[in-house]
Amino acid sequence: MTLLEDFLAANEAFVKNEEFKAFTTDKTPNKKAVFLTCMDTRLSELSIKALGLKNGDIKQIKNAGAVVSHPYGSTMRSLLVAVYALGVDEIYIMGHHDCGFGALKPDPVIEEMKKRGITDETFTTLKYSGIEVSDWLKGFDSVEESVRETVGTVKNHPLMAKSVPVHGMIIDPETGKVDLVINGYDKAE
Ligand SMILES: [Zn+2]
Repeated sequence: MTLLEDFLAANEAFVKNEEFKAFTTDKTPNKKAVFLTCMDTRLSELSIKALGLKNGDIKQIKNAGAVVSHPYGSTMRSLLVAVYALGVDEIYIMGHHDCGFGALKPDPVIEEMKKRGITDETFTTLKYSGIEVSDWLKGFDSVEESVRETVGTVKNHPLMAKSVPVHGMIIDPETGKVDLVINGYDKAE
């Protein structure tokens, strides 16, 4: 069986056994909060369980590193839509220790791309289009700095209402312990 077939077989059983009933909820988050967290596999369940949350409580956005790297990219758009259209009152940026994206070195990734058939010409074309792939792929040195920077980007976004608290936190992927970096209530107007 391929992975895809595994997934589809599991899904058939899931629906047939009506296991979905345990997850019934609606589109509006019970806790009126959106979390931007890293896509790290260790956090899939841990990041919500560690805060006493369950399915339907919050909105979750996940990407590599829990960062907003472009103020008009899809992560920032998701946060704005969550606030203005989907019942969210507070934003949480949650980084984590031992982040694979933070530690990411662009060069081995680029080498891997080349091994899999991406040509030098492609990188040159991108460069002339203003995209330096090595800068674009770069992680961060300190998760705390990264969380602070992303909180700042979201908080100071021209389209974000000043009344929305933007919190910053860091979770330990081993123990689930959360440390508060920025208390967004302090800066909300
Ligand atoms: Zn990570």
